[in-house]
Amino acid sequence: MPLLIIDEQACIGCGACVDVCPFAALEMIDDIAVVNDNCTACSACLEVCPVDALSLPERQAEAPGAVDSYRGVWVWVEQFNGQASSISWEMMGQGRLLANQLGVSLTACVLGENAHPLAEEAIAYGADRVFLAEDPTLRVYRTEPYSKILYALVREHRPEIFLLGASSRGRDLAGSVATDLYTGLTADCTGLEIDPETRLLRQTRPAYGGNIMATILTPHHRPQMATVRHRVFEVPARDPARQGQIVPVSVSLSENDIVTRVVDFIVEEEEVNLADARIIVAGGRGVSGSEGFEPLRELAHVLNGAVGASRAAVDAGWIPYAHQVGQTGRTVRPDLYIACGISGAIQHRAGMSTARVIVAINKDPEAPIFDVATYGIVGDLFQVVPALTAQFRRKLRT
Ligand SMILES: Cc1cc2nc3c(=O)[nH]c(=O)nc-3n(C[C@H](O)[C@H](O)[C@H](O)COP(=O)(O)OP(=O)(O)OC[C@H]3O[C@@H](n4cnc5c(N)ncnc54)[C@H](O)[C@@H]3O)c2cc1C
Repeated sequence: MPLLIIDEQACIGCGACVDVCPFAALEMIDDIAVVNDNCTACSACLEVCPVDALSLPERQAEAPGAVDSYRGVWVWVEQFNGQASSISWEMMGQGRLLANQLGVSLTACVLGENAHPLAEEAIAYGADRVFLAEDPTLRVYRTEPYSKILYALVREHRPEIFLLGASSRGRDLAGSVATDLYTGLTADCTGLEIDPETRLLRQTRPAYGGNIMATILTPHHRPQMATVRHRVFEVPARDPARQGQIVPVSVSLSENDIVTRVVDFIVEEEEVNLADARIIVAGGRGVSGSEGFEPLRELAHVLNGAVGASRAAVDAGWIPYAHQVGQTGRTVRPDLYIACGISGAIQHRAGMSTARVIVAINKDPEAPIFDVATYGIVGDLFQVVPALTAQFRRKLRT
């Protein structure tokens, strides 16, 4: 249902709102503005209405004391084809720590078709309770059914914290659920902790182009919602002996209620899974062109790793965006990150500085990448990288 409120008595039918709406959510019928379901409550129309005939409902803070009635930490378990994304278990580890600190339970939300094994996995990774919604309509992720179910669960059970992965699906779902709940959402968190005095969730994320780390609080609304970047937290140890409660959730959805249809899945031509790679060989502007990535690919191949890139290399069109590491690319946490011809700008470091071992190859000894490198090699990458490849090839063969 659209959120926009139109005062029909005040509307003069000027059509200014229709022209400015980016979602084609407004039209004129009998000289009165009428809103449809495309409305996202973006508020673009409010500013242009000359007679203040348009408004959005007041976003009410919870009544004093009401926020204290919310209890518990929740995590959404993201899955594709019945396989959980590792980010879900990373959040489960952090969710467990937060729940322990608050003295509350940790709940996992598992949605899918035949998803019972995932519910058991969620318990093994730390959940005390799992809400399990199984239905053919939930087989693949779609915003409408997933957000409807999570919205209803939150309304009924009132968790104080709700974490989702900052994946494409998690970002989409979190925004939808938070909007319906009228609560705050901090996107792309790289740190989460509890303020022991206030019980508030301190949600930390890079801001202003990565130049500062902002800590965001949600004092007046619940739940405190956050999406969490992949590989920021460690996957906890799996304990198959852990006990927990699986609560089935009844699903009363039919395909006819859902507008979105999944037509097909198209796998990216050059498949790259940076998030799960244990070794990454990344190139920057220093590789000087798309062919400059060849020696890096060879090294990555010998080490059974993946190829990453700086934004400069991606923007130059030398390598697809899926390889980009950094603030506006992927966050990675490999065992070994080899940065070749990358200066080490803060936005790049935001995505890789938690790698266990960082090797930097750069011909400028003053390059900032050396500040975060475990080992630094000052030299020309076109000499150093092939030499490393030859050495590793020899070592790994013996
Ligand atoms: C809002 C915002 C978001 C951003 N997000 C990202 C992001 O997600 N990821 C990201 O990477 N950047 C991001 N950036 C861009 C970032 O600020 C830098 O511009 C970018 O990381 C620089 O890429 P680079 O290190 O490859 O290039 P440069 O900074 O140009 O560095 C090239 C390096 O290569 C070295 N070099 C040159 N030739 C050789 C050689 N033959 N051998 C060895 N070394 C050599 C040079 O000494 C130099 O240090 C973002 C910027 C903004 C404003």
